Amino acid sequence: MTSNMVVRELARIAFADMRMLHREDCSRTFLEELGFEHAPHLVAELMEKAVREDLSYSAFLEDILRKEREFREERRIKTSLKLSGLPQGKTLDTFDFTFQRSVGRKEIELLATCEYIRRKENVLFPGPPGAGKSHLVAALGVKGVENGFSVTWLTADELLKRLRRDEQDPGKRNRRRTYLSSSVLIIDELGFQDLDRRDAHLCFHIVSSRYERNSTVITSNKSVREWSEMLAGDEVLATAILDRLLHHCHIVHVDGSSYRLWEMEHRTRCRQGKEGEIIEDR
Ligand code: ADP
Ligand code: MG
Repeated sequence: MTSNMVVRELARIAFADMRMLHREDCSRTFLEELGFEHAPHLVAELMEKAVREDLSYSAFLEDILRKEREFREERRIKTSLKLSGLPQGKTLDTFDFTFQRSVGRKEIELLATCEYIRRKENVLFPGPPGAGKSHLVAALGVKGVENGFSVTWLTADELLKRLRRDEQDPGKRNRRRTYLSSSVLIIDELGFQDLDRRDAHLCFHIVSSRYERNSTVITSNKSVREWSEMLAGDEVLATAILDRLLHHCHIVHVDGSSYRLWEMEHRTRCRQGKEGEIIEDR
């Protein structure tokens, strides 16, 4: 190759590079102007990949769009989880079904498909304390968020506090009362305290407002038979609530022993085991 040819080749490469850089800049600006938030930062990397892997234009376009969608979806889930009030770290992956044999994994996996939310059905989890009710409903809440539904998690106490407060503020828009508008309302720990008449009526209000409009999920240490006692001893009101709640409802009995107690005993045993080893060492 003559020196002239070398210079010409170098100039061609430099020109191609410049054109590439120019395209990169333009694409980044267009994407930003169109409201893309993540893809503009990836243009250079994705263009380079497209050249390296000799991708078709459609494959390159798909790459850009997928990255933007993944970014937005991840952010939506993170924000929705925060707004939902769901406790962290309670997922189906961290639930030990072999410990809690009273719960059918299949039944929970079916609920995890969120079909009950699409059908505006309810779920009731009766069972003794520590058996994993809250964990399971939190995990189902996470599935709801991942599937694009709005979820609100409240303990029964907190819900009643809000209902009492909002009763004084009739002007507040229903849209802002997430316990009414959310696709899924999870009421945790109903029945830890018996309700007075006013709270029992608020409870009726919430169940009847959501009836066949959206889904309500409840955990309770009380069996259905004990609800009238829990609801200020008002049998008529309890029947009216249960009638609506149970009309389209899945009931998941969580009957086993307490995971909390098991964990505590397990830890104590481990500690004793270790101390035993130390004594033997001496
Ligand atoms: P409940 O609501 O029935 O009183 P929780 O769901 O609050 O019980 O469970 C108590 C604790 O034990 C929580 O930290 C929960 O994550 C844990 N837990 C309960 N059951 C299981 C299980 N089967 N596998 C893993 N962790 C569990
Ligand atoms: Mg609980």
